[in-house]
Amino acid sequence: MMLKDTYDVIVIGAGTGGAIAARFASKFGMDTLLVDRKQREQIGNKICGDALGSEIFDLIGIAHPRGKELDYKLKGVRLLSPDCSKEFFMVDQNQAGYLVNRVEFGQRLLKEAITEGAEFHDKIHVRETIQENGYVKGIKCIDNDGNARKINAKVTIDASGFYSQVRETIESTYIENSIAPEDTILCYREIVRLKDEPVDAPDHITIHLTQDLAPGGYIWYFPKGNNTVNIGTGGPRQKGMKMGKIIKERYRRNVFDRLIRGEVEVLSSGAGIVPVRRPLWSLVDNGIMLVGDSGCQVNPLHGGGIEASMRAGFMAAAVARKGVEANDCSIGKLWEYNHKYMVGQGSQFAALDILRIALQHFDDEDLNFGLKKEILSGEDILKIAYAGELELGMMDALSRIFKIGLLDSIRHAGLLINLAYVHKLMTDIKKLYELYPRAGKIDNFPTWKKRVNEIYLKIKSAF
Ligand SMILES: Cc1cc2nc3c(=O)[nH]c(=O)nc-3n(C[C@H](O)[C@H](O)[C@H](O)COP(=O)(O)OP(=O)(O)OC[C@H]3O[C@@H](n4cnc5c(N)ncnc54)[C@H](O)[C@@H]3O)c2cc1C
Repeated sequence: MMLKDTYDVIVIGAGTGGAIAARFASKFGMDTLLVDRKQREQIGNKICGDALGSEIFDLIGIAHPRGKELDYKLKGVRLLSPDCSKEFFMVDQNQAGYLVNRVEFGQRLLKEAITEGAEFHDKIHVRETIQENGYVKGIKCIDNDGNARKINAKVTIDASGFYSQVRETIESTYIENSIAPEDTILCYREIVRLKDEPVDAPDHITIHLTQDLAPGGYIWYFPKGNNTVNIGTGGPRQKGMKMGKIIKERYRRNVFDRLIRGEVEVLSSGAGIVPVRRPLWSLVDNGIMLVGDSGCQVNPLHGGGIEASMRAGFMAAAVARKGVEANDCSIGKLWEYNHKYMVGQGSQFAALDILRIALQHFDDEDLNFGLKKEILSGEDILKIAYAGELELGMMDALSRIFKIGLLDSIRHAGLLINLAYVHKLMTDIKKLYELYPRAGKIDNFPTWKKRVNEIYLKIKSAF
């Protein structure tokens, strides 16, 4: 099919966020173009932990992974304390866990977007957006014959991932162009077939919190089948440090050599960056919407972003439709996507961002103590990880201190005080995000931002 000059909606990037956005934009009657710089067969191929929960599929009404897409179905999460003496098995009653084959999963999402009516073109490299009179009016790209093209759209959805060139070049006072390195994690992972040993804790994905072995990050061990695991680690990027080399060496020494005892076949390996901050201040401006990693819609605590990108793609498509139908794709009209996202998942991620900043500064002794004494229960941790909620009332805190014992409480007073402070800031920021300015009240945005920044200043100066 020939590329046309104009569409209602152009979606840049056919990852999980873009494929879902294009699928629903088409379903909602929009003339939709989906482009990706990759070759069609490579869509979905991404260095990833491959884990996601089952809930999103019912939420947006699409089929759950099955057949070749589904490598493994899990019961829950196992969390290990730094010294491995304590393990929590956490099962979310609302959902199962899936380990997907990223290529098969990505190909299915793409196929379904096309079936729904989206026009897909591969090997299209988007360089930047067309910007006129303060509006994004489409894309400037290099097509698969190497020709420069301009294609117009009423709404452009950037779902081109963390490295988004579009976000970097957009002229906007609402959308940030760059993400601070300290708000990102560099990860290295391998998928290995074990030849001589069984998979450890095969019904759960394992997360090992350890500042010693994975400073500022964690080690993961995700079963992908009876004899296959996805294992990796990540840590914050630091200016002036060769993090690629550091993280790979750390993986070899602290992950692979410690966890794998016998012969393996390495099926896949590679590194990737995950943004782990709260979502961008704004995910929209005139004629443009951001979805997925491009908008930093990733759980800051565990770096999971597949679910969030799908959720955001769905929400963005619904709001884009309203703009196109009203012939008004101004920031005021598209803002509804911002508001809907921020008061929901955005508020949870903002709270988790506060916790992430704090956790990166807790030492292993505190983490061992906190987990061993169950200052936080498995249920608490599950709630924190998925909902950004840390419920710690005064009576609750007192009863936990009695459980720990007064002497230990005094010895670890710093941790308890820090935890109480983090809890307060998490609650404050969540409430503030629930007050994210509504579409008719964008004038309140600078004041709202100022209040959010004040909370961030507090957490950053405390740790
Ligand atoms: C090592 C690692 C482990 C992870 N583990 C997990 C996990 O276990 N669970 C989880 O939920 N999340 C995990 N994540 C995060 C998850 O992979 C992402 O959040 C998710 O894939 C985001 O999808 P997306 O659609 O926003 O972007 P992407 O999947 O990055 O898709 C972007 C698409 O845009 C295309 N593109 C980019 N630039 C251009 C351009 N200029 N022109 C045209 N096309 C372009 C790319 O080719 C790509 O197809 C992990 C990430 C990493 C790096």
